[in-house]
Amino acid sequence: MDGNIVKNQKALQIIKETEFCYVVWSLDSNEVIKVIPLSKNSTIEERILALAADSESGSHIMGRFIDPASITLADLEAEQAETRKIDKRRTIFLSWAHQPVDSLVKTLICQEFREPMDSFHGSDYIIEILYDFHSEQLTATHIDALAEFARSPAADQFMMSVRQKLECYLTAIRGDALAFMEVWRHHHEHIVISVWEDMMKAAGDLRISDPEIIAELISAISRGVFFNPKVVAMTALGKIGQPAGEAAALAIEQNIYDSSEYLKEFRHRVIDRIRSRDDTWVKCPKCLRGVVNPEESHSCLTCLGLALVRKSG
Ligand SMILES: [Zn+2]
Repeated sequence: MDGNIVKNQKALQIIKETEFCYVVWSLDSNEVIKVIPLSKNSTIEERILALAADSESGSHIMGRFIDPASITLADLEAEQAETRKIDKRRTIFLSWAHQPVDSLVKTLICQEFREPMDSFHGSDYIIEILYDFHSEQLTATHIDALAEFARSPAADQFMMSVRQKLECYLTAIRGDALAFMEVWRHHHEHIVISVWEDMMKAAGDLRISDPEIIAELISAISRGVFFNPKVVAMTALGKIGQPAGEAAALAIEQNIYDSSEYLKEFRHRVIDRIRSRDDTWVKCPKCLRGVVNPEESHSCLTCLGLALVRKSG
């Protein structure tokens, strides 16, 4: 018998024993790794907490809320097929990191994506790769073409988020803090939620010292529920450094716990950066924006993601 069928049957059994649940699949092994039981009448807040717990179990996962009354084995198999598709997309994503900038720009602008990649996942990935790894190789022609694409009318909510994301990163690529503030103010009222993390990231890279933005970053740390946006906000405040102020350092101390050795070290580094003079830090020699080749890890181990290191000597 196929090993996956046994696993799915077992997962189904566990799911059926709950009133309602949140199920997590591993994208590495393509199987259910966790079933978080929830009460049938669970509130939105309780469901968000389940999602937040899940966001700490790593990034190679997929999760779904499931009603045990209606779930079948076929449904679980269909979800498993989806994890394989995601896995294939990830392989493509990793290979894209080595593609020439020219071809990445063209694929994004012409929206030419082949299965299992689609416009939804492909556009996001390309924008991130261009920003994290290739922004120094982008020519004025590339930037103009990307800016035109970002300004063109969006057909739906998703393309709107792609355009907002690109528009915000282009301001950071150009090092144009004033343009960033304009984009931020323009989109602030109706920003697509998924773009909020990109805005925080760009604000950090541009070292925006505007009090309103710093207050938003601090609020993301002290009031946020999800783990990832908190880390993005903390990274941005660390990049901004001294202008982020003592309130930022305190918010980090009070709200980011030592849930792993890495996080403990990173938290320490960010607070040190905020509480020290800016001229005691220099650009990290190992990375561009704090992230290294996606095949290795997410954060640069030299600067822990800050793109800045303490001046030696
Ligand atoms: Zn680095």
